[in-house]
Amino acid sequence: MAVSLMRYRPDTCDCVIIQEHDREIPDSGITLHHVEAACEAHVLLTDAEIGVAVSGPQGENRRKNLARNRLQADFGVEPTWRFVGVGASRTLEIHVEGLVGQGRARAEQAIQETGVIGVVLATAAIEPNPRKPPIQREAIR
Ligand SMILES: [Zn+2]
Repeated sequence: MAVSLMRYRPDTCDCVIIQEHDREIPDSGITLHHVEAACEAHVLLTDAEIGVAVSGPQGENRRKNLARNRLQADFGVEPTWRFVGVGASRTLEIHVEGLVGQGRARAEQAIQETGVIGVVLATAAIEPNPRKPPIQREAIR
């Protein structure tokens, strides 16, 4: 085993997660090692639950990326977004400037087609929360 540890700071919340990857097994993927710091929204969850909520297959990061990328592709603009609520299944609010009527219906359809759950198309611009630089992943061992 040649395990690398990485400190992961998602752009979807303030958790700090230590992930591991076995360099000798390329297909082993990146898995949770432990949670270094839990944000206010996720503090009541276990480490394993935070790992799933933040970076699981239906986790916040993937949901945000799928919905945002689809809206970017379809409408050619950068949507604003944030997560609201606490716990394992927070709601993603996402907004595309200037969407009304047919455009809004098309955007709702586009999000539905991504299969992303727990998304609300907001009517007003969203102040990103938290305000952070994009995803950071740094090697620590
Ligand atoms: Zn968090």
